[in-house]
Amino acid sequence: ERMVTGDQCDEDAIVELSLRPTTLSQYIGQHKVKENLKIFIEAAKMRHEPLDHVLLYGPPGLGKTTLAAIIANEMGVQFRTTSGPSIERAGDLAAILSSLEPGDVLFIDEVHRLPRSVEEVLYPAMEDFFIDIVIGQGPSARSVRIDLPPFTLVGATTRAGLLTAPLRDRFGVLSRLEYYEPKDLCAIVERTAEIFHTSITKEAAMEIARRSRGTPRIANRLLKRIRDISQVKGEDKISLDMTSLALSMLQVDEVGLDHIDHKFLKGIIENFNGGPVGLDTIAATIGEEPQTIEDVYEPYLLQIGFIQRTPRGRIVTHKAFEHFGLKANE
Ligand code: ADP
Repeated sequence: ERMVTGDQCDEDAIVELSLRPTTLSQYIGQHKVKENLKIFIEAAKMRHEPLDHVLLYGPPGLGKTTLAAIIANEMGVQFRTTSGPSIERAGDLAAILSSLEPGDVLFIDEVHRLPRSVEEVLYPAMEDFFIDIVIGQGPSARSVRIDLPPFTLVGATTRAGLLTAPLRDRFGVLSRLEYYEPKDLCAIVERTAEIFHTSITKEAAMEIARRSRGTPRIANRLLKRIRDISQVKGEDKISLDMTSLALSMLQVDEVGLDHIDHKFLKGIIENFNGGPVGLDTIAATIGEEPQTIEDVYEPYLLQIGFIQRTPRGRIVTHKAFEHFGLKANE
């Protein structure tokens, strides 16, 4: 189990229930996204209409599910959740849609993973609030139209490009969540500490923020582990020293990288002189799937400028060489 991936593990799931902010004003950071949503929500409420369908996209752990629940809360409607891979047949979706109350928010996580046949049922549902379902088989089969209450679909995905064009086009609001600034993550850590009844110094909270890869889920997870270590060591208030000690025990380095990132970067530095090297070649060298490298390893390394994607392959930057105390070849 990696400490520093944005994906949710079982332990996170339990803790996170108590950590989710419930209103837009409690939701820290993501100012642009919040500003937009605030206006759309207010306008929809003034018109007494459901909010337009919203697509939230960005890496795992940045707060898409949280934001979807906030939208429902701010609209004063029910929040229903499901996920792309769990809806296997058109009938499953029909059952969910026909059980909605007017105005409800239906959240579909990993919306790009809906089976094609299910996705097609969603088009008229999103556009005109009806579905056509086929009853019976063979010559006696007939299509029945079912009207739906107006609802808001909130879809979440890691990249908007993963959606088919017809599905993407049916979302009126597309909001991209960005990695958080350290100061926003620091505020999230302080908020979480308060909910945990734990005290922490400002410097310690900032240190966790700097090492959390711009991701609230990681910040909260690190805080939880550091709190345990601090408690065992008999400290009441989490200090900067304790935080640094704990993070080195957890093998999280100064910029939030772990042994897996090190293996990836050093693999390119040591075997390919820093690149350029093709994705498939690196994958074979370090024994990982190319897809995992692209989706899990690379986004944050690109964000902090440790690697670049070029037409000729991946390059490890000078900044990354320096991080390891090495000098890049010209
Ligand atoms: P995603 O759906 O993008 O994977 P989640 O919405 O599940 O991410 O967020 C993970 C956790 O991070 C949540 O439980 C919440 O505690 C925390 N979190 C995310 N965004 C924020 C935020 N803007 N302010 C405070 N906490 C946040």
